[in-house]
Amino acid sequence: MKRRLVLLGAPGSGKGTQAEMITRQFGIPVTSPGAILRREKDLGTPLGLQTAEIIQYGGLVSDEIIVELIEDWLRLHGAHGFVFDGFPRTLRQAEALLSILKRLRTALDLAIWLDVSEQTVRDRISGRLQCRSCGFVTSAMSAHFADRPVCPYCDGRLERRTDDDFAVLQKRLVEFNTKTQPLAEFYGKMSILHRIDGNRGREAVFADVSCLIEDKVPA
Ligand code: ADP
Repeated sequence: MKRRLVLLGAPGSGKGTQAEMITRQFGIPVTSPGAILRREKDLGTPLGLQTAEIIQYGGLVSDEIIVELIEDWLRLHGAHGFVFDGFPRTLRQAEALLSILKRLRTALDLAIWLDVSEQTVRDRISGRLQCRSCGFVTSAMSAHFADRPVCPYCDGRLERRTDDDFAVLQKRLVEFNTKTQPLAEFYGKMSILHRIDGNRGREAVFADVSCLIEDKVPA
């Protein structure tokens, strides 16, 4: 069974964490434009350099660039379904995804919206550490990593994302509220939108996410 899902929610709502748990539990391939673009920047590719500044200031990368990334990804890896983490983020992206899937004679099964308060977002983002090498995400509050910020999986350096700065976060929240919030209505009308309280711990959120997947897109 191919499952096709999108994960939506504010920065810090836990999309990346849940996407990873979904992949592990259900074997659905995941991709995230944000993670791809960070990697491109680290590699110094033209795409990475071209988009780094926008990301750094908390803006959204152009719909054309993002849709092309997703189309390329779907062409290469889309045969087994997908979980998109951080796509779509605008109505134009959501419409583009619909028409790409229509061309492939398929459709989206589920849009999961992780609801979080602004306080949760601020608390999580202010403590977020990420591995430069493999992308593992953890919290600076975790006693484990406070003294020795080294990734437990690959020994890479754990550091704060440069766009997790307070002023940049403000801009990312404005972008989310103005450009991404309208997607709730868009997917609501298609009757595939489901909201989950993302203010809880990762396991509690995942329990609801996995029930939803099993219920709405059974194997
Ligand atoms: P978060 O969900 O924590 O904001 P992401 O890693 O998903 O982090 O995204 C980081 C940045 O990458 C965004 O602030 C934006 O600049 C860019 N980006 C990611 N996905 C998209 C998208 N679908 N459309 C436009 N820009 C995007």
